[in-house]
Amino acid sequence: MGERAVSVLGLGWMGAALANTLVREGHDVTVWNRTAHKARPLEGRAHVARTVRAAVEASDVIFVCLLNYEASDELLREADVAAALSGKTLVQFSSGTPARAREAGEWARRHGLSYLDCTMSAGPQHVGSALGTFYYAGALEVFESVREVITPLVGTSTYCGEELGYAAALDFAHLGAFTGLMTVLGSVVALLDAEGVALEDFLPTVSFLDREFLEGVVEAISEERYPSGRAALTTWKAWADQFVSSARDAGVDDGVARLVRDSLAVAVERGHGGEDIYAVFSAFSPSR
Ligand code: NAP
Repeated sequence: MGERAVSVLGLGWMGAALANTLVREGHDVTVWNRTAHKARPLEGRAHVARTVRAAVEASDVIFVCLLNYEASDELLREADVAAALSGKTLVQFSSGTPARAREAGEWARRHGLSYLDCTMSAGPQHVGSALGTFYYAGALEVFESVREVITPLVGTSTYCGEELGYAAALDFAHLGAFTGLMTVLGSVVALLDAEGVALEDFLPTVSFLDREFLEGVVEAISEERYPSGRAALTTWKAWADQFVSSARDAGVDDGVARLVRDSLAVAVERGHGGEDIYAVFSAFSPSR
């Protein structure tokens, strides 16, 4: 495989995993992160850019992996950065709504850059492994032009077609189902707690859910153990803000999305922002 110059903007959980995998694959990697110390583990293996513009100028392929599209727009839409992006390929890994993905594609077209929207059905522990799936939306020739760079990132790289909102819609459906389930489980477990019913008695009644998954959930709740996750609850909350927007943009009822977002917000307010998604249960039980 030929070495490519690739820049990664954002070195949170996922951005750092992407950058490390690119380095491992022998690419010429440049990184930038708002909080500079997160680039230290990559020093000596990757170039560390002092500015976004310098990171963009260093490579023809730019990966963006920030909290959300708002953070990304703030950086990339500065006039000098937008000018430096012209003629390059931007792969957007930050979560965003289908509408924002479409708008970003239009912005990219106007500014002369190629654009792919990626959603990651994977955690940082899967990046660089044979597990997990990344979904890509955008022009086929753009996908093909970076295929050799993106293929080793995760077990499966799925091209969804030219409709730029497609991968994002899939992501909101998948994660909406997951976070919705976690929120409902938080609510019913609080009810069981309040009524003094043992969680062990609850398990066999939920035969429609995977037993191993459910046992993991119940164990975390009963031990009140919400370990520091590989996706912080604050990141989930930022995702859920967009879950609400995606429902509204699509003209569908946003009730479930608001419930998920509000539950996550309460859990963050209660001090669980750095913890695992399981900490959403704390929203339903003040004692937790
Ligand atoms: P994270 O660990 O919270 O990192 C967030 C990154 O965004 C950091 O680099 C942070 O910089 C940067 N950032 C936030 N606001 C910014 C701003 N206003 N200006 C500049 N930089 C800003 O998040 P993550 O887990 O890596 O997730 C990144 C994206 O991937 C999110 O959109 C998330 O929804 C998505 N995702 C995550 C997972 C997962 O398992 N973690 C899985 C699938 C998708 P600082 O370091 O300076 O704060």
